[in-house]
Amino acid sequence: MPEPILKISKLSAHYGDFQALYGVDMEVAEGEVLAIIGANGAGKTTLLRSLSGLMSNEAGQITYRGQAIGALRADQVAALGIALVPEGRQLFPSLTVEENLMIGGRVNRAGPWNLHKVYDLFPILQERRGQASTSLSGGQQQMVAIGRALMSNPDLILFDEISLGLAPIIIKDIYAALPGIVGGGMSAVIVEQDITKALSVSSRVYCLQEGRVSLEGGSATVSREEISRAYFGIA
Ligand code: ATP
Repeated sequence: MPEPILKISKLSAHYGDFQALYGVDMEVAEGEVLAIIGANGAGKTTLLRSLSGLMSNEAGQITYRGQAIGALRADQVAALGIALVPEGRQLFPSLTVEENLMIGGRVNRAGPWNLHKVYDLFPILQERRGQASTSLSGGQQQMVAIGRALMSNPDLILFDEISLGLAPIIIKDIYAALPGIVGGGMSAVIVEQDITKALSVSSRVYCLQEGRVSLEGGSATVSREEISRAYFGIA
């Protein structure tokens, strides 16, 4: 088996005295779409924040393309090719759509993504390019957040709650765009509340429960019973 693009070993994370992750082991293969599921508070966001250089209070190893990145800052992690599409979009409200997209471009990595390609992927953003990002619908803001991440030309893209709070029609549009995003060999980690959607787009799935991995399996082969047990802790 080839070296995974990302390897997480015994990762723990804390908020003050509160421990949110306990010894998480996880791997992402090159070109793979990996899904992470788990109930509210299971630690999914904390895990993605750890991978993105946004958590300082962590122990364990995070290795990306053979390099230890656990101690790096977010900008250093981004420069290596890991991009986060954060929960709740977190756009810059005073900036236009295009200016928000350009923020991602400041990472300045070579690769196929540029404004033109992002607008091809999400044509509505070209129409709205000069508008304040806050004037967009939630779904359009999610497209900006995805576009901003793509503008940094990542090799690994992390989506936190990719469809949370969005209208079904927009969720459909965003999922329809996924093959165009990951089809070029980019690896992806998708945190998703909708288990059926998570399984349908990924090759493997991990479930987190109270900060621990409670299930790891092939998305096409895990059973609903296994998932229920891992998700809710039902014996
Ligand atoms: P959700 O689906 O609700 O976003 P999650 O699986 O992403 O859940 P996290 O957001 O990673 O879970 O939270 C994991 C645990 O850490 C929860 O118990 C949460 O209350 C706690 N937590 C998260 N952020 C903080 C913080 N800034 N300070 C203290 N505790 C926090």
